[in-house]
Amino acid sequence: MSCLVFKFGGTSVATIERVLHVAKRIQKEKEKGYDIVVVVSAMGKTTDKLVEMAHEIMPNPSKREMDTLLTTGEQVTISLLSMALQSLGLSAQSFTGWQAGILTEGIPSDSRILEIQSENVRKALDKGQVAVVAGFQGVDSNNNITTLGRGGSDTTAVALAAALGAERCDIYTDVDGVYTSDPRYVPKARKLQELSYDEMLELANLGAGVLHPRAVEFAKNYKIPLAVRSSYVEDEGTIMKEEVEVEKDLVVRGVAFMADIVRVTVGYEGNYKGSLVNIFTVLADNHINVDIIVQTILEGVEPSVSFTITKENLADTARVLEANKSKIGYCHVNYEEDVAKVSIVGSGMVSNPGVAAKMFDRLHKENITLKMVSTSEIKISVVIPQESMLLTANALHDEFELAASLAIQV
Ligand code: ASP
Ligand code: MG
Repeated sequence: MSCLVFKFGGTSVATIERVLHVAKRIQKEKEKGYDIVVVVSAMGKTTDKLVEMAHEIMPNPSKREMDTLLTTGEQVTISLLSMALQSLGLSAQSFTGWQAGILTEGIPSDSRILEIQSENVRKALDKGQVAVVAGFQGVDSNNNITTLGRGGSDTTAVALAAALGAERCDIYTDVDGVYTSDPRYVPKARKLQELSYDEMLELANLGAGVLHPRAVEFAKNYKIPLAVRSSYVEDEGTIMKEEVEVEKDLVVRGVAFMADIVRVTVGYEGNYKGSLVNIFTVLADNHINVDIIVQTILEGVEPSVSFTITKENLADTARVLEANKSKIGYCHVNYEEDVAKVSIVGSGMVSNPGVAAKMFDRLHKENITLKMVSTSEIKISVVIPQESMLLTANALHDEFELAASLAIQV
C-alpha cells in the first residue's frame, strides 16, 4: 500500500484541542487507504521552555543532558496524538526515535541520521496502525539519546519517507507554504506554488526558517516529493521537486535575509608565509560554522582573510582564535557586528547572465554599502550593514518582480 509521511510542527500541536484537530485530519487521509506515518514536534514552545529551565541551572549545560531533556518534549506529543487517534477509533502506535530505529552519528545537539532501521514502524503499518514518531531525536552507537538540531523534526519526517519509500512527505505547519520572501518583513511576498529542491536548499540554508536544511537534502537525494502546507487551511501548499513546471521563466524565485551576522577579519604580517586556511581547520575542529570567506592577497597589502559567523558563535570564535593565535600565526583580528546577509535565489540564474549586474545596480541606486559578496550557481549573497537589511530585501524583491507574477491565485 502506498505510504505517506506527515509532519506536524509545534504550533500545530500546541494544545489538546489542536492535537485532536490533527488526529481528525489524519483520520481523513487514513480513510483514503494510505499507510500513514506521522512525525511530530514538541507542543508549542515546549522546547524553548526546556532550554530555559536548563539555563536556570547553568549557562552551558552538557550537550548530552540537553538532548535527554529536549527529547522529552516530542515524547509527550507522540503519546497524546496516539491517544487522540485511538479516541477516534483508529489504531495507532507511538515511537520514540530509538523505537523507530533512527540511528545517528556526530555531535550531541546536532546529530545526523546515519540509518533508519524501519522494521518496527513497517510492522505497525502492516497491521493497519498509524505510526506516530517523535521528531528531532535518535540514538547513537553508544545508546545516547541524541537530537538533530533545532527544527530537526522536518528531517526525521523526510528521512522516514525515504526509508519507507513513501509516495510523498507533507510538512504541516502554521504557514501555508514557502513564500518569495518573509511576508512579515517583505509585504509584497507571495506564496510559491512550486520550487526546486536546489532552490529550497539554498533558501533553507540562508535561514528562511520554513524547513530544516537537512530535510531538503534528504528529499533531494531520495527524490521525495515534499510539500509545505498549512495545518489549518485545506490547500496544496508549496511543492518541492527536482524541476519546477510552474513559472519556469522566473529567474529569481526567492529573497532571503539573515540578521545578526559578524564579519571577522584576521590580518597577518606582510611577510607571512603560511597558509591562510589553517584558521579554518581550527574553527572546524571547534564546530564553528563559517559562511562567506574572502581572502585578500595583494602585492603591497597586508594579507588578510575575512569571514562571517553568526552572532551566537562570536564568543566561541573569539576564544578559539585567541587560544590558537601562535598556531594560526595571525597578528590581529577584528570583529564587526551589526551586519546582515541578503541573498537572491533562483535556478534560472544559471542560464541568465546579468542577474548580478542587475542586483548591484539596484543596490547602488539604493545607496547600500556592500561589504562582501558571494555567489553560487543559483544564488548571490551580499553582506551589508544590518540597518539596510529590510530595505535591501524589499528592493530586490521589487527589482526581480517577484510580487507581480502570474501565479497569484487566490
Ligand atoms: N522541537 C524541536 C525544536 O523546537 C524540533 C522541531 O520542532 O523540529 O526545535
Ligand atoms: Mg520547524
